[in-house]
Amino acid sequence: MLAEHMTWIEYRDKVKHSVVILPMGAFEQHGPHLPLNVDVIIPTSFANLVAAKVDGMVLPPVTYGYKSQPTSGGGPLFPGTTSLDGDTLTHFILDILRDTYRHGGRKFLLLNGHYENVAFATEAVDLFLREAKDVKIVILSWWEQVPDELVPELFEGAGFPGWDTEHAGITETSLMLFFAPELVRKDKIIDDQAARIPKYAIFPPSKDIIPASGVLYKATYASLEKGEIICKQVTDVIVTIVKQEFNARSQ
Ligand code: ZN
Ligand code: MN
Repeated sequence: MLAEHMTWIEYRDKVKHSVVILPMGAFEQHGPHLPLNVDVIIPTSFANLVAAKVDGMVLPPVTYGYKSQPTSGGGPLFPGTTSLDGDTLTHFILDILRDTYRHGGRKFLLLNGHYENVAFATEAVDLFLREAKDVKIVILSWWEQVPDELVPELFEGAGFPGWDTEHAGITETSLMLFFAPELVRKDKIIDDQAARIPKYAIFPPSKDIIPASGVLYKATYASLEKGEIICKQVTDVIVTIVKQEFNARSQ
């Protein structure tokens, strides 16, 4: 299932028939309570769960992403947040698609965990499709697969702030409590919010649109139980998408 653990012979025999899943993340601050690679751990965890159910193959993840923005990730000024230029990210993804295609891959799922990546993944796929024949590609972000009916339950008492603002907040913290509890500093979980959240971008960013903690929403409303519910429901949704779009069989 994990391409990185396969021999070349195992890879050769599997890549042609499998849905090839590429998790895409970032190296970005996630407050005082979560590690810098949250946006890698979450989509990689979903990729592994989905691959097990549809006989998929998971490629090593893209571990850096497009530039963190103040109102969706805190922006570039936090120590550690390390981002790629759009052109670098586009060509990084494009190179992976090209070589995997050369080896026989035809069905690709780009499974995104970092808000700012989407346009550059789309650009990579668009450039790839100019040369690749008989391929099908799906790009999705995990939070867009959270069922609408689940949102009131997850955000009860806190209110839903919009997915861009849900950074190091309720859903990411809950999923990390479920996927990698040993990496969550539970005594450092806090609620925070920017003094204002403009619906436009400001360059250079003014300080009052970035919470000093790096937490963009109310992380204390996170729980292991919420993480488990999100994990199960989002995995089911992605499996359904894969079956529908790639005619993949269940295991
Ligand atoms: Zn994140
Ligand atoms: Mn992010």
